[in-house]
Amino acid sequence: MNIILNGASGCGKGSMAGFLVKDFGLVPISTGDLFREQIAKQTPLGKKLESYVSTGKWVPDEVTIEILMDRIKQPDCAKGVILDGFPRTLNQAIALDKTLNIDLVIAIEVTDDIVHARLGGRYMCRNCGTIHSTRWDKIDKCKKCGGTDLYQRDDDKAEFIQKRLENFKLNNGEILDFYRSQNKLFIVKDKLENTPADTYALVKDTVAKL
Ligand code: AMP
Repeated sequence: MNIILNGASGCGKGSMAGFLVKDFGLVPISTGDLFREQIAKQTPLGKKLESYVSTGKWVPDEVTIEILMDRIKQPDCAKGVILDGFPRTLNQAIALDKTLNIDLVIAIEVTDDIVHARLGGRYMCRNCGTIHSTRWDKIDKCKKCGGTDLYQRDDDKAEFIQKRLENFKLNNGEILDFYRSQNKLFIVKDKLENTPADTYALVKDTVAKL
């Protein structure tokens, strides 16, 4: 089974993907993570991506689609994938539609206030990528691997959070319409007080029935 997680940055897609991996054995693919890997390795592509990713601008469709298509062709993806952060434009959705059968699109709806609150308090483990929130977790060491290098992403700073939200709102309506017309859309309304586990509880049964 192949699932798309849709929602503004900070809506909890990464945490939701973690639960789905654990319960259903799917392979998580985040285009943001694929880009950050290239940037960390300072490949020629990574150097081009840096100015987009670090400032919350979207990477052009051509590059994004190519990197995603290369990843989903890998043999491990045959057991099913969870796409986090892709598609972010209608062009990306149309390209994906030609390559991969999508079973369900989970759209997590959050208010702008939730996005600002969550992203502003988000810390990543540099060693294993685990997401931490100052709302639930201590950030002196990683809750998964014990690593002590927890950092805030450049694009989680307030001015870039707003930019990402604007990009999201500009494009997401037509993406949702695209999947709604295919009867694949499942919308979850999230609340600030919800923990990631609360939000996951709203979707688990739907995924189990696929
Ligand atoms: P994320 O980790 O999903 O919040 O993505 C981080 C950044 O990577 C975004 O702000 C964009 O700069 C870039 N990015 C990730 N996925 C996409 C996409 N599907 N289309 C365009 N840019 C993307």
